[in-house]
Amino acid sequence: MIKKLNHLMFREELEIRQRLLNLILSAAFVGGIVSIISTLIIGGYESVLVASILLIVVVICLILSVRFNKTNLAGALVVGMANLLIFPLMYYKSGGSYSGMPVWFVLGLIFTWLTLKGALCYIMYGINLISLLGTIAASVDHPEWFTEMPEGYMTGDIIQSVAIVSCIIGIIFKYQTYLYEKQRKKILETDELLHTANEAKSLFLANMSHEIRTPINGIIGMNTLLLKNLENADKKEIYEYAKNIQSASQTLLSLVNDILDISKIESGRMELVSVEYDLFSILNDCYNMNHTRASEKKLDFIMDIDNTLPSMLYGDEVHIRQIINNLLSNAVKYTEHGSVILSMKASERSNDHINLQIDVKDSGSGIREEDLDKLFENFTRVDERKNRNIEGTGLGLSLTKKLTELMDGEIKVKSEYGTGSVFTVIIKQRIIDDAPIGNFNEKYNTWIHRKEEEEDDRTAAAANILVVDDVPLNLTVAKGLLSSTKASVDTALSGNECLEMIKQKKYHIIFLDHMMPETDGMETLKKIKADNTHLNTDTPVIALTANAVVGAREMYLSAGFADYLTKPIQEKQLLEMLYRNLPDKIIKTNTTALPSLKERFPGLDTEPALTDYCMGDEDLFIDLIKDYVAWDKRSEMNACLEASDWKNYRLLFYSLKSSSLSIGATALSANAEVLEQAALDDDTAYIHTHHAKVIKEYGEMLDMLRCGL
Ligand code: ADP
Repeated sequence: MIKKLNHLMFREELEIRQRLLNLILSAAFVGGIVSIISTLIIGGYESVLVASILLIVVVICLILSVRFNKTNLAGALVVGMANLLIFPLMYYKSGGSYSGMPVWFVLGLIFTWLTLKGALCYIMYGINLISLLGTIAASVDHPEWFTEMPEGYMTGDIIQSVAIVSCIIGIIFKYQTYLYEKQRKKILETDELLHTANEAKSLFLANMSHEIRTPINGIIGMNTLLLKNLENADKKEIYEYAKNIQSASQTLLSLVNDILDISKIESGRMELVSVEYDLFSILNDCYNMNHTRASEKKLDFIMDIDNTLPSMLYGDEVHIRQIINNLLSNAVKYTEHGSVILSMKASERSNDHINLQIDVKDSGSGIREEDLDKLFENFTRVDERKNRNIEGTGLGLSLTKKLTELMDGEIKVKSEYGTGSVFTVIIKQRIIDDAPIGNFNEKYNTWIHRKEEEEDDRTAAAANILVVDDVPLNLTVAKGLLSSTKASVDTALSGNECLEMIKQKKYHIIFLDHMMPETDGMETLKKIKADNTHLNTDTPVIALTANAVVGAREMYLSAGFADYLTKPIQEKQLLEMLYRNLPDKIIKTNTTALPSLKERFPGLDTEPALTDYCMGDEDLFIDLIKDYVAWDKRSEMNACLEASDWKNYRLLFYSLKSSSLSIGATALSANAEVLEQAALDDDTAYIHTHHAKVIKEYGEMLDMLRCGL
């Protein structure tokens, strides 16, 4: 209660003036209660009545100040009451100028200055001064108004008044000085904090630009070499350059991701996303991501997983994976000989919860005792001389610690310099299925075996794909990543271009960037959905987005997208998304040997066409067939016949002749040639009798080709 009152009346956000007023009012309130009680004991009911009225006014003023923040009004009321009523009355009742009252008048006037603000302060001061001086002046003209006081009273009253008033004024000034000092100290501390924060920010930026510059320099350097040596370099060298560029880009991406994660955590914007997950799948991924690097360094990579751990848990799967991966990749990075061991067990377990204990142990360089505290700070790398050839940013452990703490977990490290380290993380998770996970190594072997059998060898040569992005580089990347599907990929640089293209051609899937100038992805999709006159009303549209925030999937689905992919686009995810959304009939699996071209297109002389026109390149041949199918001119041919437009009729059959020949449709080509010649010779009778037959043959050819694609 006292604490609450203290906060209400004297908290630091309040103006000093208001706190002072509250102090005076509280003192008056206590004083009022004491005087009522003492008068009741001594007697004198008149005084009790007066004191009670005054007490009510004090309480009203307190409410006005504390509850409604009406400080000026409360101040004016209390100061007015004292100077215009109480002090003049007391003056007349207790001996006038032959008493200590004038000293109280001084206190009353000082209160006016202390508690009021602005014009009201000056006005009230004027009124109070006139009232008090008037009271004194009146006493000279009308001494009969005064109550006679006993002998010796004056000296005692003056002594008492001087003592009390000077004490009150002293306390008020002391209180003001105390508040001022407190405020000043706080300002100094805030200044210092701001200064330190500013320094930390500058250091962070300096480190960050250095760390970002390193991989960028690598990318630019390697790319320059690549461009310079493109003519002379052999495939192996080009592969090396490209590999280096890829590795530097990955470093850059993970650095930027780490920085984003750290700043998200520091600003309190990192949200944990808890889901049900399969523990084996996390362990499996962590093993896959790190064991290749370990075996390249000839390290033993050991998974020591307690068989009895529950198989399904509930928690933030993505971040747990990130924590384990950070620790494992460090262990592999800082170990030259020996082993890296990932152990997992329950440090505590109840029916529905488990404290998952993750230990990552290595026989690497170890960390000096004095460096252990610094490990988890942003951008801190220890033992830099020894580790100077090891890539790193000093962000991994800082992020790992922050993520662990965000999940209410703990992280510890034990290390012996030169011998190795153990990083331990303990995180509480809910158990969804407590069926034991079983032997990890056996399970992993079965998994890898099955995966090898399932290796993705699907293609979708007949699929039409549209990718929309305002950055040409992204389109080139997407096209490159989709090349293995053998699908035909069109690109558009804007939402509006996409809206035009979907009127011309049927696509099986559209990848649409969200953030684009003018018409962005959302708006483009809205327009696609609103118009049902184009050819793509039922085509699935996948959003491409650079910032996958929590709830992104729901947001895109509710906007009408079929799904979403995060950028930079990963090949595996892109293909998964593509195949998941394509109709089954246009996906082909190459596990059994592909039927030969002859089998796929039984009516064609594939052999000579392939060698003569496509240099033996089957893909090119398929592309030719796709173009041929897309170039269906039957209706134009019929229109020319009806209009007797022999000039264009001849041109159309000339084209049919040559394009049919290039795909090996020799019979159709020969028939087209005869009609072309007839058109040239104006032999309309021949044309009229043979046209329908050739058109029918042409149609059958197109159907056969579509089947084979
Ligand atoms: P980095 O990107 O430099 O690896 P981290 O934040 O992950 O950044 O680690 C900070 C520092 O801690 C590293 O630079 C390294 O000196 C030290 N360190 C981390 N893990 C290990 C380990 N397993 N063995 C030895 N030293 C380690």
